[in-house]
This record gives sequence, structure tokens and C-alpha cells, in this order.
Amino acid sequence: MRMPAVLRPYDVVLIGGGIMSATLGILLKHLEPSWSIAVYERLPELGAEASAAWNNAGTGHSGLCEPNYTTEKPDGTLDITKAVTVNEQFQQTRQLWASLVEAGILGKPASFINPVPHMTLVQGIEDAQFLRRRHEKLSGHPLFASTRFSSAVKTIEQWAPLLAQGRLPSEWLAATHDATGSDVDFGALTRQMFTHLETAGVTVHLRNEVRGLRQNNDGSWQLRIHHHTDRDRITHRVDARFVFAGAGGWALKILQKAGLPEVQGYGLLPISGRFLRCDNPELVDLHEAKVYGKAPAGAPPMSMPHLDTRIVDGRRTILFGPYAGTNPRFLKHGSVLDAPSSLRPQNVGPMASMLKDNTSLAWLLVSQLAATRRRKFAALREFAPSAQSGDWTMITAGQRAQIVKPDPVRGGVLQFGTEVVASQDGSIAAVLGASPGASTAPAILLEVLDRCFPRYRQHWAPRLRELIPTYGVTLGSDARLARYTLARTAEILGLNPAEPG
Ligand SMILES: Cc1cc2nc3c(=O)[nH]c(=O)nc-3n(C[C@H](O)[C@H](O)[C@H](O)COP(=O)(O)OP(=O)(O)OC[C@H]3O[C@@H](n4cnc5c(N)ncnc54)[C@H](O)[C@@H]3O)c2cc1C
Repeated sequence: MRMPAVLRPYDVVLIGGGIMSATLGILLKHLEPSWSIAVYERLPELGAEASAAWNNAGTGHSGLCEPNYTTEKPDGTLDITKAVTVNEQFQQTRQLWASLVEAGILGKPASFINPVPHMTLVQGIEDAQFLRRRHEKLSGHPLFASTRFSSAVKTIEQWAPLLAQGRLPSEWLAATHDATGSDVDFGALTRQMFTHLETAGVTVHLRNEVRGLRQNNDGSWQLRIHHHTDRDRITHRVDARFVFAGAGGWALKILQKAGLPEVQGYGLLPISGRFLRCDNPELVDLHEAKVYGKAPAGAPPMSMPHLDTRIVDGRRTILFGPYAGTNPRFLKHGSVLDAPSSLRPQNVGPMASMLKDNTSLAWLLVSQLAATRRRKFAALREFAPSAQSGDWTMITAGQRAQIVKPDPVRGGVLQFGTEVVASQDGSIAAVLGASPGASTAPAILLEVLDRCFPRYRQHWAPRLRELIPTYGVTLGSDARLARYTLARTAEILGLNPAEPG
């Protein structure tokens, strides 16, 4: 049945009910409580796509353990910029969540964040040297002062027994360990944020899919929405002064529908993921860490294997993976037509060039998809040599949609980070890409505010400092403030305090 158009102007419409929309809603409600905000989510639940607990790895990414955030420069020195930047961003995240816990907006911290040490594990002399140099370079930074390095199997065994059990004495291992790391249930966090937003007057519409957008003459946007009821589909329209597409893998599709010139030539490479999950309490008791290894040469960062303690709904489990693969959907609950329908005359060339330049990635995706369970299990045994197949079950994670951008030299390039795209007039914005993603949502959304509401910058700064006290300050340049901030947020969020060496 088709309903007549209903025009209802909102100040802000958030498309999608994941962690990005939730965080932006929280920030905007704090900054401008009188603004009217509506959320449209196509699924019957909030936080059910990439932000759902089992659809991601739950790592509070802070550069403590991810080897790919530290790259080797051509002259052989290490570039730690990305690790430091991600850690600085995660400190903003910790401060925002701490403020929301103190304000009673978020519930008990353990319902969404738990202390889980972050480790890096490598094998062989060359990688051990890389890890030692990485540690030396980072340990001078106040946010990395708690990281310890060891190449002694006994110490690694104390840190995480599963990593050492069943190893040959001749094996070369090296690891770093940082007790300040965390495991996060982004799905629970998302739902708690939306519960607060609803009590603060935000209207949340489930089973409502935004199908079309067009800009009105006054610069606002009109959205065409399909509301799916059990028996029917109702089409309605709403107007909004500002639109944020927190639509995960479908964000590009929305910007394409809006005809944004900023994304002309952009495409997406969908990458699916699977994890092995272990619930055996005896094994779970032997492992309390998120342990990242180095990705095989030529492999993309999202195939970097990790053996993770997860804490979801108060239950501990272990996760290993991800095993990347291909699948044309841009969302786990998306459509097989997502990839083909995203092709435009302008992005076919960049997509073809990207595929030509990334044959090793294409090969890795196909080979991981085709790998037998036995081969997949062999990858786990590199981390936990004593692992037994019967203790592990395979689960399907969320979809990643990696950005492919036009490039004047190479035709098209694949990007692994997250990118904020905003229209020139600041009336519509979106977040594309997946990593480091949810952990750095506040920093990403502060960029959205900065780019879309430049007139409000000065007026909002003091209000933002109420939520993120170090807003505008780099902690790396103020060791005392860094130590104080780490200690304060650790206490409020129930995380392990920093232990300077
Ligand atoms: C395998 C995997 C592992 C990951 N591991 C980590 C990790 O360890 N740490 C970390 O920080 N990040 C991790 N990430 C990234 C993180 O999950 C994402 O960055 C984050 O969840 C994205 O949040 P979002 O709100 O943008 O998207 P989503 O959570 O996907 O939410 C988007 C929502 O928009 C809705 N939607 C889409 N289109 C429409 C429409 N047209 N109308 C209405 N609703 C719509 C969808 O149904 C969905 O609910 C991982 C991701 C994956 C896939």
C-alpha cells in the first residue's frame, strides 16, 4: 500500500542504527539538546550489523598490539605515527564513555567494556627483531609506557598460557604485553546509547529503510523511506536539515543516491569474515589476552590473525580469525546485488585498476574462502599449538566494505582505513570503510561535526570538553596529563591502570 507523502522536518536524520549513528546522536544531543533528531534503521533491531558483538572482534583498537599500525620505511626505520594516532583517538573514546558512565547514560562498564591485555606475538628472528624495535620506539611515548617486551617463552607463558603450550623448545617466539587493553561489546554499547537517546526525545524508527534522497531548494534533504510492517510496505518522506549516513557498508550507496560529486569514482570491495569460537571453560581460563600476529606478506591488514578473549553478556569465550573471503554483499544482511548495483561508469575503471594491482589480495580471498577446515585450523595452531578441532566452531562475522578510490597515477587504489565524506555545504556526511572503526568512533564523528558545522566550532568546544576533557589536546605532548587521563578513565571504566616501567 502506498501512503501519501508526509513532510516532517527534522534538524538531524541519522540513517542506520550502529555505533556511528549512536555516537553522533549522543554528541549532538549534548551540544544542542533542542534539535530534533530521528533515526531510521532498516533492520528490526539496533546494533545488529557490523557493530553487533559477534560481527566484529571487539578490540578496543589503541595501537598497543596491531603490528600493521607500525610500518617499516624504505630506510629501515619504523613509522609509529598510525599507532600513536589511533591510541590518541582511543583516549578520546575512553573519556567519552567514562563521562557517559558518570552521567548514568551508560550502564555498568562491564556490560560493554572489560580489561583484556593486548599482546603481539611473532615467530622467527626477523619478526622478533621487528617487534623489539617497535617496542623500543613506542615505549618512550606516555600512552605506551605500560607495554612490556619479552622473547622468553616462560614470560610469554605467564602472560597467555595457551600461546606456549605444546611448543618445541627450538621455536623462536617474541611478544609484547600491555595490561591496559580492552575488549568491547560495541553492540551492547550501541543499544545503551540509543536507549538514552530515546528518553532524550530522539525518535527511533526500526524496519525503516532509506531508499532515496534529494536535496531541496533550501539546502535541506528529502528522504524517501520504506517502512516494512509484517504485512505491508509503506512509503513516506521526511525532510532534514542535516543527514548523517551511518549506514555501514551501505553508506556509499546512500551518497550515490544523493548524487554527491565527492564520491564520484568511488567503489567498494566487500570482504567477508569468519571466526573460530571456543567456549570450553578449561581453555577459556588459560587465555586472557587479545593476541595479534603479523599478517602474511602481501596480505591485507584485515587478514591479520588474532586470538582474542571476548566477554559478551558476562560470558568469556575465545575467538580466532578472521578468515577473510569474498561475497558481493556490503552488509551481512545486505543483498547479493550490492556490488553489481554500486557500479557506475565512473567507478568501473578505478575498480578494474585496483583489482589488477591487488592480485595477491584477490588470490588470498579466494584461497581463504576455499581453504579446508584443516587448513584453517593450522593457522590457529600457529598461535595455540595444543588446540583441538572439537573445541572450536566456525561463526560468520560482519561484512567489511573497503573503499576503492580513483587515483590519477594508478587508476584506482584500495584503502583500508575509515574515511569521512561530507558535502561541500555540510548538509550530508557519511563514514566509509571499516578500520579502526568502532573504537575510534568519537574521533571520527568529531571530524564530521568539524567539517559540517564549522560555524559552531567555538561555541561547541567547551561543551565537548565536558564529555572529552582533553578535547583539542595531544596527550603525547603532555606526559602528566596522559598519565592522569589514563588513570581516571581506567578507574571509571574498570580497566587495568597503566604501569610505567
Ligand atoms: C569482521 C570485523 C571485525 C571488526 N573488528 C573490529 C574491532 O575489533 N574493533 C573495532 O573497533 N572495529 C572493528 N570492526 C569495525 C566495526 O565493526 C565498524 O567500524 C563499526 O561497527 C561500524 O559501525 P557503523 O555504525 O558505521 O555500521 P553498522 O554497525 O554496520 O551499522 C549500520 C546500520 O545501518 C543500517 N542501514 C544501512 N543502510 C540503511 C538504510 N538505507 N536505511 C536504514 N538503515 C540502514 C544497517 O542495517 C545497520 O544497522 C570490525 C568489523 C568487521 C566486519
